[in-house]
Amino acid sequence: MNYKYILSLFLLSFFTELILSEGSDSINICVVDKTIIGDQAVEFTYMDTKYIFCNTGCEMLFKKEPALFTGGILKCMPCNDYDARIKINFIYGNVKYYFCSDRCRNKFIKAPQYYLKN
Ligand SMILES: [Zn+2]
Ligand SMILES: [Zn+2]
Repeated sequence: MNYKYILSLFLLSFFTELILSEGSDSINICVVDKTIIGDQAVEFTYMDTKYIFCNTGCEMLFKKEPALFTGGILKCMPCNDYDARIKINFIYGNVKYYFCSDRCRNKFIKAPQYYLKN
């Protein structure tokens, strides 16, 4: 077995995947129902990431349970770390937010605007 050969194959597939995933971003596919977005596009920035939806219905579904659409990436705003858990959450302004602990959840409840300003 040639170690370098295997490594180059691995890198090649890694970069191909990277290019493919960037390509699908530029077409603008709705994160919720995976349809191609037309001129009804709705944008919503959740935890520093901009998401684009085909209409406000999909945007609403996203806000109800963002965890379903963020690919398992959940940021705890008070920690500024990606260690939040689905079970620890709070709904603010019709949007669900997740936290790593009850301590962080309480921090957020006291001053949501402070954590959402950026
Ligand atoms: Zn949609
Ligand atoms: Zn936290």
